Amino acid sequence: MENKNLVKCKACDADIAKSAKKCPHCGEDQRNFFMRYKVLSIIIILIVLAGIGSALNNENDKITTTNFTRQDTANTKTSTSTLSGKDF
Ligand SMILES: [Zn+2]
Repeated sequence: MENKNLVKCKACDADIAKSAKKCPHCGEDQRNFFMRYKVLSIIIILIVLAGIGSALNNENDKITTTNFTRQDTANTKTSTSTLSGKDF
C-alpha cells in the first residue's frame, strides 16, 4: 500500500512527505536545482540571453567595421615590434 503523499529520499531512501523540502532523516534537500536556486537560475538565463543578443549584434557590426579592424591589426603589429625591441 503506497501513500501518494510520501516520496523516497534521494539520499537515504527514507519515506518523507512530498511537501517536505528537506529529508527529516538525513537533511538532504529534496528540491531540484531550479527550485533551490530560483534567483540564480533566472540570472543565468538572463546572462545567456544577453550573450546571444550581443553575439548577434557583433555579427552585424562585422560588416560595417571591417576596414577599421584591418587598420587596427596593422597598428598592433608595428607597436608590438617596437615594444619587443625595447624590452630585449
Ligand atoms: Zn534522507
